[in-house]
Amino acid sequence: MNSNPAFGADLQPFMGIPSFMRLPVTRELDGVDAAILGVPFDSGTSYRSGTRFGPRKIREASLQLWGHNPTLGITPSETLKIVDYGDVSVIPTSIEHTMSAIREAAEGILAGGAALISLGGDHSITLPLLRAHAAKYGPLSLVHLDAHLDTWEAEFEAVPYSHGTPFRHALQEGLIRPGEYVQVGIRGPVSAANDYEDAARLGARTVTIHEVFQKGIEAVLEEIHRRLTGPVYLSLDIDSADPAYAPGTGTPEVGGLTSYQLLELVRGLRGLDLVGFDLVEVSPPYDHSDITAVLAANLTFEVLSLLALKKSGK
Ligand code: MN
Ligand code: MN
Repeated sequence: MNSNPAFGADLQPFMGIPSFMRLPVTRELDGVDAAILGVPFDSGTSYRSGTRFGPRKIREASLQLWGHNPTLGITPSETLKIVDYGDVSVIPTSIEHTMSAIREAAEGILAGGAALISLGGDHSITLPLLRAHAAKYGPLSLVHLDAHLDTWEAEFEAVPYSHGTPFRHALQEGLIRPGEYVQVGIRGPVSAANDYEDAARLGARTVTIHEVFQKGIEAVLEEIHRRLTGPVYLSLDIDSADPAYAPGTGTPEVGGLTSYQLLELVRGLRGLDLVGFDLVEVSPPYDHSDITAVLAANLTFEVLSLLALKKSGK
């Protein structure tokens, strides 16, 4: 038995305190390889809110993860020292203050030498996370899985920041390497015919869901590996999955990826220099039977597995 009864894999999933994968909750970063950070903020949402409850629900769903990844052949917690850092202290009524708090927390963790695994929250949290990572690594290679472009102009007059705009700002601020931004799974009606052209002009390579289903996951991964040459940041909007697989989200779009295709896409990033990850837009109030939270927890586990493979040189 584990000497610490509050944590450890010897507890059943329905027992104990739900930190992520029942990892130790601490802000002590000595020797830590990866830190889980909750970002329970949903005031950047334009339609259905509720992602502020995402981190807590994903942590709860993560208690089903038994540690070993048989597909990738690795046990992340044996290769990596991973901690649950807790949550950013967000201010639900101020996106600007919250963005500063997110960046500050992220920079503190990155300065301690740990890779950062952030659980949202809506997609507005990604901009301060990208700012923090680019401050450490320089401009990033970016993989962005989503139903939506998220390169829109301000959605409301005089309000530049929302969950629909993070990548426009990131591109304009030079946080992303030119030509090294691939967004996958994009679909659904848009407000204007030139939205896709606008994303391309800003520097996005948009792989629509139509293209994914025509070419297949393998071809998409091949292009990602061919294009991306720098430190890779992965931003995963859970609405990239079809609402059948991820109903618990604020802006569902039909005709999306299956949960298995998402697992394949993430696993297929093996070999890239992955330095950061966020998973956003899980909205538990709209979920059913925790389908979405369970998928999110598993995708996070796959990313931890990739970081473990990277550390062990596999
Ligand atoms: Mn989306
Ligand atoms: Mn998004």
